[in-house]
Amino acid sequence: MSHKIMAINAGSSSLKFQLLAMPQGTAICQGLIERIGMVNAQVTIKTPTQKWQETLPMADHREAVALLLEKLIDYQIINALNDITGVGHRVAHGGESFKDSALITDETLAQIEHLAELAPLHNPVNVIGIKVFRQLLPNTPSVAVFDTAFHQTLDEPAYIYPLPWRYYAELGIRRYGFHGTSHKYVSATLAEKLGVPLSALRIVCCHLGNGSSICAIKGGQSVNTSMGFTPQSGVMMGTRSGDIDPSILPWIAQREGKTPQQLNHLLNNESGLLGVSGISSDYRDVEQAADSGNRQAALALTLFAERIRATIGSYIMQMGGLDVLLFTGGIGENSSRARSAICHNLHFLGLAIDEEKNQRNSTFIQTDNAMVKVAVINTNEELMIAQDVMRIALTETAAFCVPA
Ligand code: ADP
Repeated sequence: MSHKIMAINAGSSSLKFQLLAMPQGTAICQGLIERIGMVNAQVTIKTPTQKWQETLPMADHREAVALLLEKLIDYQIINALNDITGVGHRVAHGGESFKDSALITDETLAQIEHLAELAPLHNPVNVIGIKVFRQLLPNTPSVAVFDTAFHQTLDEPAYIYPLPWRYYAELGIRRYGFHGTSHKYVSATLAEKLGVPLSALRIVCCHLGNGSSICAIKGGQSVNTSMGFTPQSGVMMGTRSGDIDPSILPWIAQREGKTPQQLNHLLNNESGLLGVSGISSDYRDVEQAADSGNRQAALALTLFAERIRATIGSYIMQMGGLDVLLFTGGIGENSSRARSAICHNLHFLGLAIDEEKNQRNSTFIQTDNAMVKVAVINTNEELMIAQDVMRIALTETAAFCVPA
């Protein structure tokens, strides 16, 4: 039996969605509702052949979901609401409670709400999305898919911070890691493409987008990852600094009288590629500026690559070697320049890329005689969410499918 599964990614003022036919894994339609809560909210719905766009006032997420469902029927994308046989929700934080995606019940919902303490900006809006869908589709099973769950396999040495113990024991301050859905999806797809079981592979996966994280995956399990207690840590990103000397924060606070919220904004929204280049958070804009001679833009690109290289190096040490270096995310999938900069001078590791394959964004871009494979695989978090809905809520037809 074929299912229509809705994958939802709710933000504070937006709702991204994709309706997928499962187990085939094909997108029936996708879209975005932006500026929820404003008088000029924008609804965009696309099928492979058509696109609709509308601007209208929208009070809240409930109205957004109701409108979305109404439009799907109006545009004859579905015939009735019960055509949607399952809903999957991306949830930012699963804490230590969720080691896998979970069927949404009153109990799981209460746990997700409780975890808002760890992700105050994200979990509450994820919960709103879940509640609204449960109200409007009360008989349709729904599943929560956590950004953190894949990293629950980390060992203590990878997740404990060297702080007084009570901050972990009482407040739950530890490395959680994020982007888990993407790291899990692309590593599984890679194993399929290689025809090698995941259990036999040591992978370093570089998810490079506006947010970037690196993950060490050994035998199919996350053993380390660069994002930590929040998605702010690790490598340099579009507007996030990644790791810096922690004492810079109290120093700036004292010197400039900044509040914790202002410091958070500085680290999350004003730093990274944007902060160093002074031009943009978008990799392509920074590339363009660097090519026209902007020194800070060129430095930003070098810093971006060098911090990723340092992380990759440490993960190779931890795993005792490397079989595949894997790139995904907007930059990882599309920028041959970023991949080239990250992979240069690594012959000593048995790692070298073929520039011609790299320019073409081929799936495998290593040279013929390289020991380490270098792969480029497009991420598809919506498909992973839909697969988890199938596996967890609709088990009689559960199947892991990876598109060709
Ligand atoms: P998000 O983390 O918001 O999902 P994406 O994964 O879409 O972000 O990645 C966005 C980044 O990808 C931007 O910095 C953008 O410049 C970069 N990017 C997209 N296409 C290209 C390209 N062809 N060449 C270089 N960078 C690209």
